[in-house]
Amino acid sequence: MIANTPIAAFYLRVSSHKQVKNELPLEGQRREMEQWCHENGYHFAEEFVYADKAITGETENRPALQDLMSTALRKKPPFSVIICWAFSRFMRNEDESMMHKALLKKNGVRVVSISEPIPEGPYASVIERLIEVQDANFLRTLSAACCRGIHTAALKGHWTNPKQVPYGYKLEVIKTENRHFYKLAINEEPADVVRQIYQMALDGYSLKQISQCVNMHKARIASILKNENYTGKRVIHSKKTREKVLVVDDAHPAIVDKTTFERVQRALKTRIKCQNKGLTGNHLFTGILKCKCEKPMIHKTCAGGTKSNPTKLHYYRCDNDRCNITTVKEDRLYDILLSCLEEQLFDEKVLRSAVEAVNSDRAKSDVAAARNHLTARRAKANLRQQRLMDQIEEGVLTQDQISERMKKINDEIIELDVQLATMQQVDDKPVKWTDVVKLIKTIKRQLKSQDSVERKLALQAIVPRLVYYGNTVVVETTLMGLKDELTLQYHPVPDVPSDYEGASHNDKRRLVAGIRRYTNDKSITGRQINKMTADELNQYVMHYQRKQMHNDGYSNEQ
Ligand SMILES: [Zn+2]
Repeated sequence: MIANTPIAAFYLRVSSHKQVKNELPLEGQRREMEQWCHENGYHFAEEFVYADKAITGETENRPALQDLMSTALRKKPPFSVIICWAFSRFMRNEDESMMHKALLKKNGVRVVSISEPIPEGPYASVIERLIEVQDANFLRTLSAACCRGIHTAALKGHWTNPKQVPYGYKLEVIKTENRHFYKLAINEEPADVVRQIYQMALDGYSLKQISQCVNMHKARIASILKNENYTGKRVIHSKKTREKVLVVDDAHPAIVDKTTFERVQRALKTRIKCQNKGLTGNHLFTGILKCKCEKPMIHKTCAGGTKSNPTKLHYYRCDNDRCNITTVKEDRLYDILLSCLEEQLFDEKVLRSAVEAVNSDRAKSDVAAARNHLTARRAKANLRQQRLMDQIEEGVLTQDQISERMKKINDEIIELDVQLATMQQVDDKPVKWTDVVKLIKTIKRQLKSQDSVERKLALQAIVPRLVYYGNTVVVETTLMGLKDELTLQYHPVPDVPSDYEGASHNDKRRLVAGIRRYTNDKSITGRQINKMTADELNQYVMHYQRKQMHNDGYSNEQ
């Protein structure tokens, strides 16, 4: 190799064959590059030929390119020019391209495209940028055209993904003169399995239980339960953001009706919430009810009712085996809770003062000012980013300084965007009384709903936490962003009547049972309490109350 003759590196890349038709194959690109070297007085060597095959432009992961960049950015790069077929072969993303080219330029390495010759002179870099912008647009237009094609087909009720047919459906091929397309038809046997899966999910069975019953993997069942296509809707999600980009109603026959689908989605949602708290199931108080020892109270059932009319009794027990607190009956707690909410939370006077408090809070907080302040900071960060880009182009900064500072600015911009988005959700308009009335009406209706999922969702919306203390339950409530705490009497304080001695045997037994439930005292037997006189009973209850007050007042230890 002759000294002082500049050396060129080749970067070759072909994308997946169908995409660009007038593109030369690798060998062709290579020949043209060699030709260019001869004409322009450059040498080339086999060790500086870099080739990436069949990867689309927008992805970053191109091993040969990364190899090329690291060689080119060495302290003394072995070549002074990188030859590529087109700039679009080099980088698809404008910012990346600009960054890389600026770095290369600073290191004395030029990038030359042989299919898009660039006139030298002051306009060269401007034209270079223009070509890059065009390339990126091309890729976007291409994917947009693909999406349009899929959308048009979906609007006609055609199935555009014949390799992926949802379980329970089969493909029907419809042929026209010059082309054919697909439609979904119900495949009865597997469709029955899908219906069974939905019904079981609705009945509160876990994925594991359903999996054992229909002999299918849990993950597959989960995806079946989330697939909205079963309702007859054609739903297309964006591959990038996973958001719904298109919904076509009644595109194909439904296997699951829309209400069932919606109910299952809600059931799955509450289930996920509970799982985060270490519990599963859709039972009313699961995940909300805690024991005073801070362990969750777990849903259990036992046989109840009479022999002729057997029922299931739902109750909750503390998860802590050493905790000797009594159990909580679901029906009883719900009844007391509803009447307490009715009296203390849904009362018009209470609500009106709550609305007043919310409105005065909102008037005080200057949301608009804060929003303006954030927007200004966001604009400043943008400006700093732009200035940094300029400095890169001028070659003032090193690579390390760039990435560090760039990351800092990017982090700041992300943080500001998050804050701005949160601000957008803050409602600073005053609350209207009619809206509150409507809201309360809806909540009340849902709380009394026959649908257990709806009831639970309504409850969770206003009561995030219940703590059981044995006789009392502390209810945390939240309404219109206002938090409050109510106390329920789960076991009423026993009242020993003055004519106790003369009461019937059954009344006496009932009272003793109430006292025992109230005190939960294991050191004394029912028979001992039965023998007590009215005075002794009163003293016993008062003694317990004093002990309780002492415990609550001076220590929380169990
Ligand atoms: Zn406990």
